[in-house]
Amino acid sequence: MTTAPLAAAPSPTDGASPALLALGITRTYGTGAGTVTALDAVDLDIARGAFTAIMGPSGSGKSTLLHVLAGLDEVDAGTIEIDGTEITGMGDDALTRLRRERIGFVFQSFNLLPMLSAEQNILLPLELAGTRVDRAWFETITEAFGITDRLDHLPSQLSGGQVQRVAIARALVTSPAVVFADEPTGNLDSRTTEEVLDFLRLSVDEFGQTVVMVTHERDAAERADRIITLADGRIASDELLRGKR
Ligand code: ADP
Ligand code: MG
Repeated sequence: MTTAPLAAAPSPTDGASPALLALGITRTYGTGAGTVTALDAVDLDIARGAFTAIMGPSGSGKSTLLHVLAGLDEVDAGTIEIDGTEITGMGDDALTRLRRERIGFVFQSFNLLPMLSAEQNILLPLELAGTRVDRAWFETITEAFGITDRLDHLPSQLSGGQVQRVAIARALVTSPAVVFADEPTGNLDSRTTEEVLDFLRLSVDEFGQTVVMVTHERDAAERADRIITLADGRIASDELLRGKR
C-alpha cells in the first residue's frame, strides 16, 4: 500500500495531539422548563487516522455532536480541539478559515455544484481557501477513486457512485485534520452504500485520513474502527472494532 504525503502545512503540534479532543462539551437548546440537553458533558478523543462511527437513536445528539465538533455550532460549556488547536471561543473569521483548511465534509446529499465539472467540484475547497493545488495529491486521490476519466464531466453526467466518489475526493483535497460525514449512505441503495463505505475506508487505510461518520445503520458503522453510541446526549457505549483509537 502506498501512503501519499499529506499536503497540508504541519500543525504547530505536529502529531503530538489527537485529531480531535472534546472535553466536557455540553449543548442545550431552549430555556426554562423547555430546555433540552442535546449533549451532556461529553468527553471524546479521536486518534489521527482512525475511522469512527457515531450511532444512536433519533434525538440522541448525533447531529449536534457532529456540528459542534466541526465548528458549525457552538457549545455552552467544554472545549474542542482540532489537530491541537482549540476551536471553542475562536472568532468567526478564524473559525471559517479553520473549517476551510482543516475540515472536510461529506453530506448526505453530496452537494456537488451542478454547473461545475467533477474536477472543479473537487478543487473548490482549495479555491475557497485560496490554497495552491497540489497536483500530485489531486492525481493520487482521483486515481485511487477511479475517476480520472470523469473529471471533465458535470455531476449530471456521472453515476450515483461516481458522484459520491467526487464528493469524498473533494473532502480529502485539502488534507484536512478530520473528514466529517453526516449519514453519507442515508439515501443510497445497498450497492452504492457499500461503495461509499469502501471509499471512506480507503481514505483511512491508504491516506491516513481521520474520518468521523454519523450513521444509524449498524452494518455501515461496522466498517469503522470504532463505534461510539449516543443516548440522551451522553456516550452510552464505545466499542473498538479494530486496532486504532
Ligand atoms: P440526532 O441527530 O441523534 O437525531 P440531534 O442532535 O438532532 O439528534 O438532537 C438532539 C436533541 O436536541 C433532540 O432532543 C432534539 O430535539 C434537540 N434539538 C436539536 N436541534 C435543536 C434545535 N435547533 N432547537 C431545539 N432543539 C433541538
Ligand atoms: Mg440527526
